Amino acid sequence: MSIEHVAIIGAGVAGLTVALALAQRGIASTVIEQAAELTEVGAGLQLSPNATRILDRLGVLRALQSVWLEPESIRLRSGTRLSSIAEVPLGSFARERWQAPYGVLHRATLQKTLLAAVSAQQLCRLVTGQRIDSPSMEAFEAICGRAPDVVIGADGVWSVVRQRIAGAEPARFSGNIAWRMLLPQEEAPDFIERDKVTAFLGPASHLVAYPLKDSGHVNLVAIAHGRDPGKGWDHGVVNRTELSHAFRAWHPRIRAMIDGIEQPRLWPLYEMPEGAWSNSRDTILIGDAAHAVTPFAAQGAAMAIEDAYELALALAMQAPADAIRAFATKRKPRVKKIGKRGAFNRFVYHVRGPLALGRNLVLKLRPPHEVAADLDWIYEYRAEW
Ligand SMILES: Cc1cc2nc3c(=O)[nH]c(=O)nc-3n(C[C@H](O)[C@H](O)[C@H](O)COP(=O)(O)OP(=O)(O)OC[C@H]3O[C@@H](n4cnc5c(N)ncnc54)[C@H](O)[C@@H]3O)c2cc1C
Repeated sequence: MSIEHVAIIGAGVAGLTVALALAQRGIASTVIEQAAELTEVGAGLQLSPNATRILDRLGVLRALQSVWLEPESIRLRSGTRLSSIAEVPLGSFARERWQAPYGVLHRATLQKTLLAAVSAQQLCRLVTGQRIDSPSMEAFEAICGRAPDVVIGADGVWSVVRQRIAGAEPARFSGNIAWRMLLPQEEAPDFIERDKVTAFLGPASHLVAYPLKDSGHVNLVAIAHGRDPGKGWDHGVVNRTELSHAFRAWHPRIRAMIDGIEQPRLWPLYEMPEGAWSNSRDTILIGDAAHAVTPFAAQGAAMAIEDAYELALALAMQAPADAIRAFATKRKPRVKKIGKRGAFNRFVYHVRGPLALGRNLVLKLRPPHEVAADLDWIYEYRAEW
């Protein structure tokens, strides 16, 4: 049976990408989004070559490149001394080594660019302001105007479509929280390098900083242990003491910078135990709905984009049940490996005391191309079917 119409729940990165990729293969879709309009919520995203290669095939990379920053490198620095620990070259090195660029931008820019491309496709219909509470076929049929052949749950960490899948596991709080901060570039201190992604590593915490050319800010994400603020992406920080406490042993200049930021936002970090992604019949989860990953490997959006593209290829070539089963079998090992890499980074980034000194020494001795070689399996990946 060839697929004619797909219902996609969620117009995040995964949902919009899969709609676009399906349209490229002649498959129509209705994208159902709860938000009345796609707003500016969020902060920075890193897009690595495994994702930008796909965005290029979908025809949206050029638009992103005109507004994003292509950092020269990712530099690891000490959060207590500000000294450099290690560096992975990006920029032209990334283009040559991984055959695609590495860029950083505001999440809203990526979402808007994908949305413009989806809106230009006759085969895609976007329905906003429509929350799905009960994910029945009847509900989708009423919105799509016909029974969809396949339902794609691209509805993020707190997915409702998951209810259609026996054995799908709910996301669980990882024990870590992120404080998201945007600082106007002219107010950012000079130790924040304007052409790099910097990860400052400190005791039981780390801080990632990079400029956002598209918004004129420096994006700061500080990650440490914390309490779950509950569902949602954008919690105001009521208790600043928790933030100051988490970074109390850090360099005074970093502490002063954090203390001076007016409106840090809280972002709970979720992860997913291994569970089912599909009902082996007509419903499949992708992106954070299937496998929320913590941002320690900076691969959340990239995994959503890889999922979306490979699922569209599978649906264009196989009957729905075969396609979604084969998709889950193919994607799970890769996503699991990315999760493990994130867990490893979390350990390395957050060690303290003598272990941290040992880490710094080992990393300092490694030449940049060797550190880059560790990332080949992530960035070289070619999504295909
Ligand atoms: C508001 C927001 C801000 C974010 N900010 C950042 C950030 O600053 N940095 C970062 O690295 N990552 C951020 N993320 C996460 C990042 O976008 C995702 O991890 C990654 O892109 C995977 O995307 P996704 O499409 O799977 O899920 P998401 O990006 O979470 O998209 C899911 C979409 O589904 C919609 N949805 C959910 N439930 C329903 C329902 N029942 N009915 C209809 N629609 C529904 C949501 O409104 C959302 O648009 C943010 C996500 C969101 C939603």
